Amino acid sequence: MSAHAPAIWGNPATWLHQAETRGITPACRGASDHLFFPEQGTPRLHARITAAKAICGRCPLLKQCREWAQQQPPTQLYGVWGGTSRGDRLRSDTTHRRPQPEQFRRANERKAREKKEKRAA
Ligand code: SF4
Repeated sequence: MSAHAPAIWGNPATWLHQAETRGITPACRGASDHLFFPEQGTPRLHARITAAKAICGRCPLLKQCREWAQQQPPTQLYGVWGGTSRGDRLRSDTTHRRPQPEQFRRANERKAREKKEKRAA
């Protein structure tokens, strides 16, 4: 694993460490940080991310890695993990999205109902 390795490697209970002890090597082992963790404004940013995703595509740990990445707060996890970029994870995250009109309508109906019940009591 590249730059983020110590954070995940540091915990011997992680799936990644467990995989390595079983002889399964992640495809990104030794890969350039410039591919997996390119900084914003880096030349050819999208090409680098695409190349990192291609490496993930042939990784035996892709499924576990993607699941792990999706469980992390998307605003706090940088780089390509499990074939997804930070942007991909932010776009697919539902916990930080603004409420939709239907949610507003239901919340307003609930408040109105609670008010009515309060007045009646
Ligand atoms: S899926 Fe990608 S980021 Fe995850 S271990 Fe494999 S190569 Fe590394």
